[in-house]
Amino acid sequence: MWGPLAMSRLRHSALASADKAPDSCSTLADKLPYMVFSWGIGLVTFPSCLGLIQVLVFRPLRLTCALWGSSLLGLCSVGVSGFAASAVTTGCAAYLFKLDRDSVCSHKFSGLQETALLYGICSSVVFLCLGGRFRSVLPSSLIHPGAFARQGLSATFSYATARKKRSLRVVGKRHGCHTCGRRWFVKDFIADHQPPLAVVRERMMRKPKWYEKFGQRSPKQAFYPQCTRCSDTQAAHLRYAFRAQYTTPKWRHIVTHPTALRLYHLYLPLPFLIPVIEGFLAS
Ligand SMILES: [Zn+2]
Repeated sequence: MWGPLAMSRLRHSALASADKAPDSCSTLADKLPYMVFSWGIGLVTFPSCLGLIQVLVFRPLRLTCALWGSSLLGLCSVGVSGFAASAVTTGCAAYLFKLDRDSVCSHKFSGLQETALLYGICSSVVFLCLGGRFRSVLPSSLIHPGAFARQGLSATFSYATARKKRSLRVVGKRHGCHTCGRRWFVKDFIADHQPPLAVVRERMMRKPKWYEKFGQRSPKQAFYPQCTRCSDTQAAHLRYAFRAQYTTPKWRHIVTHPTALRLYHLYLPLPFLIPVIEGFLAS
């Protein structure tokens, strides 16, 4: 009941603002509130789009951050999301508030492909500058270092020592669980073997595949901080994964993290910034 009422109020306020907006927005000070509101819409659109691509595209296709070429897929995802957020920001400013489209985003690139490429490249550069890694926007795999894996500590077949556990807690508080990215409301971070011990044991016991003969028989392992929820999910998955006559669906070891937000999910109002930068460079 309250949802439609709130939406109706919001629409009414937006339309009331839109009625005031035309003709009175001749100076930057007049346009600024509408531009800030449009930027706010872009701020929500960018991480939402990244999350949707992760859940609706990467997960069904079983594409995780552990794959070769995951950085390229991540780059495409960031570029598409950046273009979508810029299009929504421009559209909001131009249509909802009836601001003159050319006056709010008057960059030199006019064609759709050119504009999409410009916004995609600029979004990717901003994403990198804010500390993002393209592979981090793909889902994590429970049997590989996750999307948020940063600093791993060298590991053996034994459990982590008390000193390593302390170091991993510090890394976990800073970068979050390496699989799902959760940092807050985590009781404790567990030292997670990657690749998991069960995977390494299985690989050592079975006959090696032809391509494994060129690499190490026993892969190098490392510890990463993992939250208890992901640890339990991983344990449940591994319990069944290597049982004879039981095959777990491949997507079972994939963990999505659309709500784990970081600084690099911040969207800058590119449609407003690019003309300013162009003007600054031209002067
Ligand atoms: Zn987790």
